[in-house]
Amino acid sequence: MNSVLKFFRDPDLGSIEARRFTVFTERGLDRIDALSNVPEEMREEMRVVASVLPFRVNQYVIEDLIDWSRVPEDPIFQLTFPQRGMLDPESFERMAELHRSGAGRDQITALAWELRESLNPHPAGQREQNRALDSEGRTIAGLQHKYRDTVLFFPAQGQTCHSYCTFCFRWAQFVGDKALRMASNEAGQMHDYLRANPAVSDLLVTGGDPMVMKTRSLAEYLEPLLGSAYDHVQNLRIGTKALTFWPYRFVTDPDADDLLRLLERLVEAGKNVAIMAHYNHWRELDTPIARAAIRRLRETGATIRSQGPLLAHINDRAEDWARLWRDQVGAGIYPYYMFVERDTGARRYFEVPLARAWQIYREALQSVSGLARTARGPSMSAGPGKVEVQGVTEIHGERVFVLRFVQGRNPDWVQRPFFARFDPEATWLDQLRPAFGGERFFFEEEYPLTAS
Ligand SMILES: *Cc1c(COP(=O)(O)O)cnc(C)c1O
Ligand code: SF4
Repeated sequence: MNSVLKFFRDPDLGSIEARRFTVFTERGLDRIDALSNVPEEMREEMRVVASVLPFRVNQYVIEDLIDWSRVPEDPIFQLTFPQRGMLDPESFERMAELHRSGAGRDQITALAWELRESLNPHPAGQREQNRALDSEGRTIAGLQHKYRDTVLFFPAQGQTCHSYCTFCFRWAQFVGDKALRMASNEAGQMHDYLRANPAVSDLLVTGGDPMVMKTRSLAEYLEPLLGSAYDHVQNLRIGTKALTFWPYRFVTDPDADDLLRLLERLVEAGKNVAIMAHYNHWRELDTPIARAAIRRLRETGATIRSQGPLLAHINDRAEDWARLWRDQVGAGIYPYYMFVERDTGARRYFEVPLARAWQIYREALQSVSGLARTARGPSMSAGPGKVEVQGVTEIHGERVFVLRFVQGRNPDWVQRPFFARFDPEATWLDQLRPAFGGERFFFEEEYPLTAS
């Protein structure tokens, strides 16, 4: 990049220096200076895991977010750097052995593909079941339509992120197999689809991270939606983790101002622009540049909502969630969802039993102001819909989970309480069975939960 670096002056935060985006991937692991203090054995483990799961981290995360005096426990380190426990012991050992024996790239890649297949690369039947069809019944690439109101759009230029989360549920998109990608560079098809579907009120632009795109590309997708044919599309949501991984995107990057002006135009023309910010830990909001980015985004009239999964090793303590939500509300962000880690990728390392997830949610909620109690959860984004664990209770002597759909493949399922047998170990919907001797959950007539 040869753009001119500049300063951003904020009345409270002072002057913030622009920064060049520098990123490290698997092959650059050994060039990360900060890792030189980490024992060689751990570095070798990272290389092994990074040959299976995606790895990408940028200099801002390394220098400003990770507290290296607390590595390996540091939550941002766990969020971005591969750890041994992310693979099952047998897979890890097989890959480690290849590395030790000095095997070539081809062999490592072949084993990597084999191991990835065992990590459920396409959770919740995304590829088969959420298809959007054009007027001739053909699948439209890069669109997903699962819930009546909301269409997901995956722009091709936005299918990467400024860093990768180690627990990412879309990790399969990042490891280089074109067949795993669900992306489109066809603005026209997305626009056609929205015009043909007047029940759609929300467009959710997602990725990867659409904020890795140039403002110009983003504008090509979004600006046409100001036409009257799209009046029904009231809410333009943009899913992003750039407020964490690269807040410079909104402050000092060469087209940062253009981006803010674009959002402003959309708001002024009557759209509700919602930034769906992915957050996992309060430390992500703790730098001056992160604060400046939040403030500038809000000044455009866009709202910021936050969502993210509950994860062992990163944020499985009630006090961390309480602080996260409190700090978000203080910064003008609305807490929206606490997710349950999905059944894919490095899940074995991060999963937290549903019963404990609910305890953490409840304790965190109890200790914050009502303004911070807007996060729903813990919520599982499963095949039939988003299922929230409302709590654990006892009914006629049977201990049960109380559950509800907050989103359903069938809108009629939403907000109906239903019950599952209590299981202290269960981590996902498909491990639950109906309470009171029932054989199937009420929605299974339409959508069976085949064991996966
Ligand atoms: C979560 C989600 C949405 C949006 O749901 P809201 O509850 O409206 O935020 C849309 N589509 C899919 C596939 C989702 O997982
Ligand atoms: S920001 Fe989102 S899509 Fe990107 S790596 Fe993290 S979880 Fe995955």
